[in-house]
Amino acid sequence: MSYKAEYIWIDGTEPTALLRSKTKILADGAEPPVWGFDGSSTNQAEGHASDRVLRPVFTCPDPIRGGANVLVLAEVEETNGDPHVSNTRALLRPIAERYAEQDSWFGIEQEYTFFKGSRPLGFPEGGFPAPQGPYYCGVGADTVFGREIVELHLDRCLAAGLKVSGINAEVMPGQWEFQIGPAGPLEVADHLWIARWLLYRTAEEVGVEATLDAKPARGDWNGAGAHTNFSTRAMREGYDAIITACEALGEGDKPAEHIAQYGAGIEGRLTGAHETAPWNKYSYGVSDRGASVRIPWQVEVDKKGYIEDRRPNANIDPYVVTRLLVNTCCSALEKAGQV
Ligand code: ADP
Ligand code: MN
Ligand code: MN
Ligand code: MN
Repeated sequence: MSYKAEYIWIDGTEPTALLRSKTKILADGAEPPVWGFDGSSTNQAEGHASDRVLRPVFTCPDPIRGGANVLVLAEVEETNGDPHVSNTRALLRPIAERYAEQDSWFGIEQEYTFFKGSRPLGFPEGGFPAPQGPYYCGVGADTVFGREIVELHLDRCLAAGLKVSGINAEVMPGQWEFQIGPAGPLEVADHLWIARWLLYRTAEEVGVEATLDAKPARGDWNGAGAHTNFSTRAMREGYDAIITACEALGEGDKPAEHIAQYGAGIEGRLTGAHETAPWNKYSYGVSDRGASVRIPWQVEVDKKGYIEDRRPNANIDPYVVTRLLVNTCCSALEKAGQV
């Protein structure tokens, strides 16, 4: 019996890349091979030299088609084997390798918003729902919208073997979150991209759009983030390393360098209101949801654990954000001899 391999890759759309996928039928027992696609249709090539290469890097069971069918995440390469400029995974690989000794873990909280037509799911026609308050972790048909999609998506993530760690309804109607992790930088990012694909695909079945837009509704409504929880072995063992990481993120050009790569439209979300710190002012604090970086209260009690970078937008590229955090924090920890 042959089986279906759904090849999934990240395209070259600016400023925020889109996911693409197509199906290859493979003979029973055959491994998913290197494949190709038309890069001129994905902002990854010119029409006169349009072939781009898909190199499988992560395969998991396809929870939608079931059986022996698989999902295949692929890196995009030029025909000469070089990584394509849109291939940010290739930039993460050497950094992850360089600091592998420090054993970085990530937990990414992916917020997102369902839309039906031009409105967030749960927004009434030609108006607004009651103000924020009852929706976060709410229950009931007047409070949460789209739960059947969310539950099916969670089941599919689990069936695919992804390291999903939880879900919750968010502060704005139609807004939800799932978390991936803890896992290493490449693994958390690979799993997050597949989980996003499953989300779009699951919502598509009922004619609903899932968006990672960082500010999907104007006015007094929370934006959508991707809080990134981070630790190294030294941080999981002691508090000095926690402080070193928080300080390193605030040093010199680091805040600006990170903010510039934490997702399109970040200034519109990190306003200083709605549980955010202003995008142009770095801060960290214990239990502080108005800081750029939060040290969870339990971490201060235990004097070890992890930190939460609250700045990343929902629309981040997790290969970029994990690379920046490993680079900034692990180099500082190495310099401080805290490894
Ligand atoms: P919040 O309280 O901010 O809503 P969540 O529970 O949504 O936090 O997400 C926290 C994430 O942090 C989870 O994905 C969890 O697996 C992850 N996490 C827990 N411990 C660590 C750690 N030591 N290092 C990195 N991530 C961690
Ligand atoms: Mn959360
Ligand atoms: Mn959240
Ligand atoms: Mn959080």
